[in-house]
Amino acid sequence: MCEQLKLQGITDEAVLKAMGDVKRHWFLDSAFDALAYEDRALKIGAEQTISRPSTVAMQSQLLCVERGMKVLEIGTGSGYQAAVLSKMGAKVFSVERQKVLFDRTRQLLDDLGYRVRCFLGDGYMGLAEANYGPYDRIIVTCGAPEVPQALMDQLKPDGILVIPIDAQSDAPTDEEEVQGQKMLRITKKGDTSKDWVREEFGIYSFVPMLDGRAMR
Ligand code: SAH
Repeated sequence: MCEQLKLQGITDEAVLKAMGDVKRHWFLDSAFDALAYEDRALKIGAEQTISRPSTVAMQSQLLCVERGMKVLEIGTGSGYQAAVLSKMGAKVFSVERQKVLFDRTRQLLDDLGYRVRCFLGDGYMGLAEANYGPYDRIIVTCGAPEVPQALMDQLKPDGILVIPIDAQSDAPTDEEEVQGQKMLRITKKGDTSKDWVREEFGIYSFVPMLDGRAMR
């Protein structure tokens, strides 16, 4: 799998090492054992998916994580991305909105020995209620309609947010279909959006980020 990732442009040795060490099949139902190292998204229950390895690698690389950094993840899902970041030496905080995934994954990460702090809640609001921020890095692993202000507020100065944003959201069209998400990396050079440095890294396909109203 790591050889494939290199061919796909992943050069960050820390990412490649972590993804070699953290076995993806640990995070999947055993029915998927034969597919676990293919570059495809797979079902994890609750109508959600684990991202493709190439997507996990790209987001991890874009995040520019250094050991000891505080990283907030929105969308714990299977826990695979959180485990990769933890293996890279980050202090990981992860928010999931679906209780069934939150319960299962918190237990799994604990059993596997990853020190990831898991929270049940609406990550659209970040992790404001708990006093763990601000964060060096924030990674969103579901497709967001726009950049949530709460996430930028919870980033440290010079912090980085990696987030997939619905590709249609700034296009003036009446199409209903979302054509995937643009991968954005936003560096917080100041408090207002004019001071945010935005870079784009291609189109991806994520499950949607749902807000608190959709939780009920
Ligand atoms: N990082 C995960 C990817 C899981 S898919 C992994 O490695 O497996 C994205 C996850 O985001 C889903 O589990 C979904 O329930 C969750 N999600 C969607 N909207 C959310 C929100 N507003 N807050 C927190 N989690 C959310």
